[in-house]
Amino acid sequence: MRMDTVIMGGGLSGLTCGIALAKRGQRVTIVAGGQSTLLFNGGSMELLGGIDGNAVAAPLEAIATLPQEHPYSKIGTDNIAKLAEEAQQLLADTGIVMNGNAAANHWRITPMGIAKPAWLTLNSHLRIDDLNNLPAKRLALMCIRGYLDQPNAMLAQGLKNMGFEVDITEFTTSDITALRRSPSEMRATSLAKHLGGTSAMRRIADQINALAGNADIVLLPSVFGDDSNFEALQSMVDKPLRLVATLPPSVAGMRMQTQLRHYFNMLGGNYLMGDTAMCGTFDGDKLTSIYTAKLTDMPLRANNYVLATGSFVSRGLRADYERVYEPVLGVDVNADSDRDQWTRFGVLQPQAYSRYGVDTDDSLRCLRQGKVIENLHAIGSVLSGHDPIKMGDGTGVSMLTALAVAHHIADGKA
Ligand SMILES: Cc1cc2nc3c(=O)[nH]c(=O)nc-3n(C[C@H](O)[C@H](O)[C@H](O)COP(=O)(O)OP(=O)(O)OC[C@H]3O[C@@H](n4cnc5c(N)ncnc54)[C@H](O)[C@@H]3O)c2cc1C
Repeated sequence: MRMDTVIMGGGLSGLTCGIALAKRGQRVTIVAGGQSTLLFNGGSMELLGGIDGNAVAAPLEAIATLPQEHPYSKIGTDNIAKLAEEAQQLLADTGIVMNGNAAANHWRITPMGIAKPAWLTLNSHLRIDDLNNLPAKRLALMCIRGYLDQPNAMLAQGLKNMGFEVDITEFTTSDITALRRSPSEMRATSLAKHLGGTSAMRRIADQINALAGNADIVLLPSVFGDDSNFEALQSMVDKPLRLVATLPPSVAGMRMQTQLRHYFNMLGGNYLMGDTAMCGTFDGDKLTSIYTAKLTDMPLRANNYVLATGSFVSRGLRADYERVYEPVLGVDVNADSDRDQWTRFGVLQPQAYSRYGVDTDDSLRCLRQGKVIENLHAIGSVLSGHDPIKMGDGTGVSMLTALAVAHHIADGKA
C-alpha cells in the first residue's frame, strides 16, 4: 500500500495533521492504536497556561520567551498566531465550535472546581474571561441523582472560592431513573446515550425550571451526546444553561475525537482503527516502510511519515529500568540518563519525565543515532521540551505542531 503520508497515532495531533494533509489533496493513512488522551479532555484546549508556576494571561507574548527546545520555538513563535487561528477553524470545520483566542487566555473550570487558563472552550461550557469580573452572581448547580462522576461539593466550593453564590440542587427524571438498574450504568457515557430526544429534554427542562430559583446561570454536567440535545434543552429552560466538565470518561472529549475522525474519513482519509505500528525499515536517512500488528506482511509505504504516538500514557514513550525510549522506530529521545532524575517526590512537584520525548531538528524531523531522518516528523505529546501538566501547553502543542508539519510536508519542504 503506497500513500503520500502515513501517520502513526490517531489522537488529536495525528488527526489534525491527517485532516490538514487530506485537505491539501494528499492520500493519508493513520494507524490508530488505542484510545487517545482527548478522552480526558473536559471541553477546552490549552495553548500555554503557566510558566514557572505562574498563570499566563497572554499566551502569544509568553510563547516568545520560551526556550529553543520548546516545540513552539521550533515551529517559530511568529507563526503561532496564524497556526492557532487555523487550528480553531479546523475544529469548527469538523463541527467542534470553540470560543477563545491565542492573545488572551480565559478560565476553564475543572471538575474539581479549579479555574485553569484556557485558549479555547466549547461554546456550551462555562468559561470566565476575568476572575475579577464574574459573568454572573448566582449559580444553580444541578446534579443528576445517582451520577457519580461529578464531585459536586468540591466543584461548588471551588466556584464559591471564586466569588459565586452557589446552590446545589439534585434532580432526576423517569428516563434517568430507568437508567439506574445498576450503579455502574450512571456514567457520563450512558447518560449521553440515553438522554436524547425532545421528550427527555422536556422532562429535564421541567425539573430545571422548577428548581432554578433566582439563579443567573444554571450549571449541568457535560453529559450531552450532541449539541442538538443541549440546544433543545436551552430553548425549553428560562435561564441560561452552561455545562461543566466531568471526571473521565469525558463525553465532550469523546465527541471531539469522533468528530475529528469522521471529518478525516469524509476527506478520504484512511483510519486504521485498532492497528498498531510495530517497527519500520530504513534506507540511509529515510524511513522506507512501517509494519503494523494487523497488516503483518503488507508494509505501509509512503513518501512521508509522521510519529504522533503520544507520551507515556499512550505508550508512545516507554521506560524500562535503564532508559526512556521510543518503541516503534527507536528514534532518539531527550531524557535524563540517570533514573533518579526522572521523578521527584511529591505529586504536585514538577516532574522531569513530563518533559521527556523524542528529539527533533528545528523542522520537527526525528533523529536516529544523531542523524536526521529526512521524511519522518514527530508531532504532539511524543515531542520533548514541553509539559502539558505544569505548562498547560498539551493540546496547543498537539494541534500547532501537527499543522506546521502538515505545511512542511504539503509544501514539499520535507
Ligand atoms: C490525563 C490527561 C488529561 C488531560 N487533560 C487535558 C485538558 O483537560 N485540556 C487540555 O488542553 N489538554 C489536556 N491533556 C493534554 C492533551 O490531551 C494532550 O496533550 C493531547 O490530546 C495529546 O494528543 P496527541 O495526539 O499528541 O497524543 P495522544 O492523545 O496520546 O494520542 C496518541 C495516540 O497514538 C496511539 N498510539 C501509541 N502508540 C501507537 C502505535 N505504535 N501505533 C499506532 N498508534 C499508537 C495511542 O493509543 C493514542 O491513541 C491531558 C492529558 C492527559 C494525559
